[in-house]
Amino acid sequence: MSDEIKKSRLSVLSSHLTHLPPESSVMASEKEAALAAAPSDSPTIFDKIINKEIPATVVYEDDKVLAFRDIDPQAPTHILIIPKKRDGLTGLSKAEERHTEILGRLLYTAKIVAKQEGLNDGFRIVINDGPQGCQSVYHIHVHLLGGRQMNWPPG
Ligand code: AMP
Repeated sequence: MSDEIKKSRLSVLSSHLTHLPPESSVMASEKEAALAAAPSDSPTIFDKIINKEIPATVVYEDDKVLAFRDIDPQAPTHILIIPKKRDGLTGLSKAEERHTEILGRLLYTAKIVAKQEGLNDGFRIVINDGPQGCQSVYHIHVHLLGGRQMNWPPG
């Protein structure tokens, strides 16, 4: 089992075992993971998912994008939508003109998957960017969250 998977599973386990108020402990571990993840061009765990080297629950796939369930869901439905080719898009802040097509494709896929998941009363799209945006994986991804009432403002 790779270190990344062990780390993901440990963080899921620890969030189940803690007796602290669950929301604050999950928020703290997510923030810690984001602050520990230095922005980088190195391959990420998502490359292993794309290459089918580690398992993921894939809910949609085509030639350009892949959508799979988040390992640590923050809502009854929590899906990540990623480009199969990162092409320098470690995060949204690295977007260039040439990325407009894939960026549109990611959002359009979110709409398709939301419908597929039956999120007919609404959903939320999130793109975390950089340490302050709580990004922990440096391969751009759209979070699709739904199946419960969302709050505003976000944390
Ligand atoms: P972010 O914090 O915006 O960079 O989001 C990264 C997301 O990837 C987090 O919500 C993690 O729970 C999720 N994640 C990390 N590893 C995996 C994995 N192996 N399978 C599915 N989701 C993962």
